[in-house]
Amino acid sequence: MVCAEAAAHLRSVVSLNAINQGQDPSHLDPLHQDADRTIQELRAAAVTDPSYTRLRECVTSGFPPNRYTLPSSLLPYWKFRDCLYADGELVLYGQISVVPAAHRRRTIARLHDSHRGVAATKRRAQQTVFWPGIDADITSTVQACKPCQILQPSQQQEPLLCDDHPSRPFESVSADFFSVARKSFLVIADRLSGWLVVVPCGADTTATHTIRLFCRYFREVGVPLRLRTDGGPQFTSTDFRNFMERWGVHHAVSSPHYPQSNGHAKAAVKSVKHLILKTAPNGNIDNEDFDRGLLELRNTPNFTG
Ligand SMILES: [Zn+2]
Repeated sequence: MVCAEAAAHLRSVVSLNAINQGQDPSHLDPLHQDADRTIQELRAAAVTDPSYTRLRECVTSGFPPNRYTLPSSLLPYWKFRDCLYADGELVLYGQISVVPAAHRRRTIARLHDSHRGVAATKRRAQQTVFWPGIDADITSTVQACKPCQILQPSQQQEPLLCDDHPSRPFESVSADFFSVARKSFLVIADRLSGWLVVVPCGADTTATHTIRLFCRYFREVGVPLRLRTDGGPQFTSTDFRNFMERWGVHHAVSSPHYPQSNGHAKAAVKSVKHLILKTAPNGNIDNEDFDRGLLELRNTPNFTG
């Protein structure tokens, strides 16, 4: 079986919609009717794809001893043959699904919902889906993405490595403000996992409002031991300083002598700003494209894995 974690990743990436695609789900194997819908759809595509069916037969009964006797459509799988397994109608590469050809374009589009660069999109794919040539397909898709071309390269930087060393998620966070279309947003990024929270704050970036936003954040995810900011006026205000003391948070403010110190938040801001410019250029992030992109952004491993 597809392992639970890979299935969850797969569901979040592929998120296929049989109804939107005009498919009739009634032809799915009744034994699998209760399975994850994404997996169901991949299975349905697998059984109607002659090349995929032959691949599955090869995986089940063994590849021939000589690659030259393989049908040409299966040649690309030859070097991966020792890592392929059958799982019902599907073929797994290790623990992740080999995607039937009909679903590959959609799958890549989902993987790139976050509009991250080639390397990040590939890292995301490695958790979830496989087919021979997927890396080249990702490269060409990302390179052909118009919003990414317009905003590259400055908006596509990788988040910087963390320079403190938190041992658990939400122990150490960075925060920064940015604006799009004259609307302000607060980004709070966990320094271990990279998990991002984006809060629209309209035109109100005062200390009082900022404190309320942080209270809500603490309520939802817990109180960090350390917060790092760039020392904007709301962060250096007496009210905010007292607030940090009340909650027992050590607040480090980056100094002009050490401009890299809030690089983590700056990198998070770049990713989110890029996503908003692509999915919500009017600054209204209450839409599904932004939600889907933020989900992908959160789920994409950073370059440390
Ligand atoms: Zn893009």
